[in-house]
Amino acid sequence: MIRFEHVTKRYAERGDALRDVSFTLEPGEMAFLTGHSGAGKSTLLRLIGLLERPTRGRLSVAGQDLGALGRRQIPLHRRRVGMIFQDHRLLPDRNVFDNVSLPLLAAGMHPRELGKRVRAALDQVGLLRLEHALPTSLSSGEQQRVGIARAVVARPPVILADEPTAPLDSTRAMAVVRILNDMAAQFQTAIIVVTHDEKIIPTFKRIYHIRDGVTHEEAGEGRSVGG
Ligand code: ADP
Repeated sequence: MIRFEHVTKRYAERGDALRDVSFTLEPGEMAFLTGHSGAGKSTLLRLIGLLERPTRGRLSVAGQDLGALGRRQIPLHRRRVGMIFQDHRLLPDRNVFDNVSLPLLAAGMHPRELGKRVRAALDQVGLLRLEHALPTSLSSGEQQRVGIARAVVARPPVILADEPTAPLDSTRAMAVVRILNDMAAQFQTAIIVVTHDEKIIPTFKRIYHIRDGVTHEEAGEGRSVGG
């Protein structure tokens, strides 16, 4: 689903942010990416989202070689990649339902189908009862779950999550991991989670550690997150 083949990203003045990175993430797999600040984690996510292009090497997502995509195909590609941000990035003046419906509106979905899909996503994150609420009236954990519902609602083949659990307590952090796990299993989504969160690290089976722009794979404990 995501394949890096000898990918290097060089910034002229800073040298290589990523150096000769190769890995494959299969459909339904969830991997965890860690590394110190400046190691190249955001660069890796930006390459997958086509916010940047590699300097060298090949990168494909959902069977599509990204090097072959022209500018006009970029918006279509971005719809294949759901993003979850640490700071939620919800529209403050739109209610929960409207925030979650945005990716489906962008995809031109019929309103009746759209309503069903948005409510299914809200149900999945346990927020159906808050569909009319404004984001500012929600707790940080609830806002994070709205952000997750928005990322999963269009059932993209790939989801990228940047520190999705950092501000949450242990119970809520595990709930987030469980939602992502369910998503991976149910829709065969490939998920990359960038995190330093010690609470959730033991739940991952695959761990990629970036050091000086180079990825190192480690086997994780893959501890169950329960039902
Ligand atoms: P991380 O997300 O792991 O903190 P980044 O991917 O943001 O790391 O950064 C990796 C390296 O690339 C750093 O040395 C950073 O300064 C450099 N870098 C990132 N983005 C840019 C940019 N747009 N221009 C120049 N250098 C950049």
